[in-house]
Amino acid sequence: MLGWPVERKIAPHIPVIDKAGRTDGTWSRADFEWDADNDQYICPEGHELKQFRRSYSDPNRGPTGTGVAKYRGPKLTCQACPSKPRCCPNMDFRSITREEHEDARQVARDIARTEQYDVSMKLRKKVEMLFALLKRILGLGRLRLRGPCGANDEFLLAATAQNLRKLAKILPAPQQAQKA
Ligand code: SF4
Repeated sequence: MLGWPVERKIAPHIPVIDKAGRTDGTWSRADFEWDADNDQYICPEGHELKQFRRSYSDPNRGPTGTGVAKYRGPKLTCQACPSKPRCCPNMDFRSITREEHEDARQVARDIARTEQYDVSMKLRKKVEMLFALLKRILGLGRLRLRGPCGANDEFLLAATAQNLRKLAKILPAPQQAQKA
């Protein structure tokens, strides 16, 4: 989903669902350096984690560029590595997965560290509260009219009702104005 807006130069103010982090104290994917030019990760010990360790004469058997890619460390090097307990204590070698749209995911992660992102999240809450109000208070959990035009009409009316409620709160009631 993040690939679509980034390809169209739309900044994704969207939280990234990331399961690459580790809670057992071992190194997570963020501790490995991504080397885009050579399509590989570099581990903290300076070794390469590659998807394929041979060049394929038949392109159909090589990297496809779609789906989740798996990068593996060199087995013999990992087994003799002094950092193995912090890297892959229960495996013969370290492996890391990479999503097809990992670059787009990184764009979203970088945006999530900005002040603008904090502003977007506050605005997002405001918008979602309005949807919650529509559903729970104004009873718009289900639409009565059929089709996109019917939905459009119902949402327009519901939004009008919401705006009238807001106006009623902002503007003083006539009798209160007279008392003042
Ligand atoms: S175990 Fe393998 S991947 Fe991990 S740091 Fe050592 S050499 Fe690198």
